[in-house]
Amino acid sequence: APVILWFRRDLRLDDNPALSAALSSGAPIIPVYIHAPDEEAPWQPGAASRWWLHWSLAAFDAALRARGNRLWIFNGPSLTVLQQLAHETGAQAIHWNRLYDPATRERDTRIKQHLRADGLGCESHKAQVLFEPWEILNSSGQPYRVFSAFWRACVRSLQIESPHPPPEHIPSYTGIKFNAACALKSLALLPSSNWDAGFHATWEPGETGAIARAHAFIEHGLADYGTARDRPDQLGTSRLSPHLHFGEISPRRVLHMILSSGGDPTQGTAEPYIRELGWREFGYHLLHHFPQTPDAPLDERFQAFPWATERAEMTRTAWQRGQTGIPFVDAGMRELWHTGWMHNRVRMVVASLLTKNLLLPWQSGARWFWDTLVDADLANNTLGWQWTAGCGADAAPYFRIFNPVLQGQRFDPDGAYVRHWCPELARLPDKYLQQPWTAPQNVLAAAGIRLGHDYPQPIVDLAQSRTQALAAWERIK
Ligand code: FAD
Repeated sequence: APVILWFRRDLRLDDNPALSAALSSGAPIIPVYIHAPDEEAPWQPGAASRWWLHWSLAAFDAALRARGNRLWIFNGPSLTVLQQLAHETGAQAIHWNRLYDPATRERDTRIKQHLRADGLGCESHKAQVLFEPWEILNSSGQPYRVFSAFWRACVRSLQIESPHPPPEHIPSYTGIKFNAACALKSLALLPSSNWDAGFHATWEPGETGAIARAHAFIEHGLADYGTARDRPDQLGTSRLSPHLHFGEISPRRVLHMILSSGGDPTQGTAEPYIRELGWREFGYHLLHHFPQTPDAPLDERFQAFPWATERAEMTRTAWQRGQTGIPFVDAGMRELWHTGWMHNRVRMVVASLLTKNLLLPWQSGARWFWDTLVDADLANNTLGWQWTAGCGADAAPYFRIFNPVLQGQRFDPDGAYVRHWCPELARLPDKYLQQPWTAPQNVLAAAGIRLGHDYPQPIVDLAQSRTQALAAWERIK
């Protein structure tokens, strides 16, 4: 009897525990992907994620075909599809790799119960994380709320397990024509209007792209990561986040590549990078233990936060479009729109502007990121937004409000990042680039800029709004 292999966000052949388990049975394998976005509600994939998913599925199907098999795509509901497949093929076993967001976790538990009641062997595996989110607890058996303590505990139990190598051949099942299977195109994951040109220029979704990026980063970027990681004007980070999110490369493979090239998780040049992988683990840990946090602040005092309602729609739109009149923020929001990704330093700055200077709820920013990021990930996005808004675990203290002008001057010192994404400001001298509203009229004129016409006036007074944000904080603290 064949074995059903249910792929979700683990679109890889390398280091795929469910695949290894299915192969070890020696039976023919039916690789399945089930399109059921409703089952992930209210966090079904946004537009940028759907773009990625389309190309990732296409790449994965090609990889399976090169090994003598193929990907069968179905429309949900997932349980019905799996039951029918098992019924039609006589499959006795189903394998998948675990997901950890609340909606799929609940669904998978329910599906497992049903399939087992039908008499099927049903097994899930750990593939997306280094540690199960429930595995690392503090000495009182409680979840960690402070990253440094969490990560110290992780590093203590970090084992250098060998990743599973990709199989040469995956025996296929030829017994039946799957009439319900559909073509990838029919899922309509790609946008109907052409906003994805910048995505194509930036990314190669799929396992080959993921492995190539990891190799390139370890060879050329890892040694300088500790200093270059904060510079959005440089290619200082790995840009593995969408590949990790869709499971095109396993965190264990990345770690193994680093450790086997001599990296040490506790010191040296590899340490800062491995620690960032640790933040990802922390995000999964928190989401597991506090499943309400994609929508609700972990710090409950923030339930009563006096968010702005006046001009909210207008300021949010200016923020989304990269038209706030604050160059470092606008550069980030435009990078996000064009490439589906934004540098981490700039994510913190734009999130701080939204939640503190504009006093708009962090949830509305998280939603915008959810729709526009190719790496949109419920655990990491929730962590990032709650951290910046000051209401999460181990969050930045509320009173630490990023000044986007100083951040720009410090982390984009030559203005290359702002000039790239806000070309209308390109001719402005460095001195005024991060704050064009301070430039004298003749300087603006020489640079060909009429503020409020070619580039917006700032939508908010940074100093005054900072004071207001601190006053709002005083009311709830
Ligand atoms: P690198 O610096 O090369 O780091 C390597 C990997 O470590 C990343 O790919 C990522 O998986 C993980 N990582 C790095 N930084 C963090 C972090 N702060 N938190 C959790 N994991 C991290 N990351 C997402 O993957 N998805 C999101 O939806 C997301 N939303 C964010 C929202 C906000 C407001 C903020 C401040 C951060 C968010 N992050 C998110 C975290 C971080 O910005 C990205 O992981 C990082 O920019 C991805 O680029 P990279 O792969 O080059 O990172």
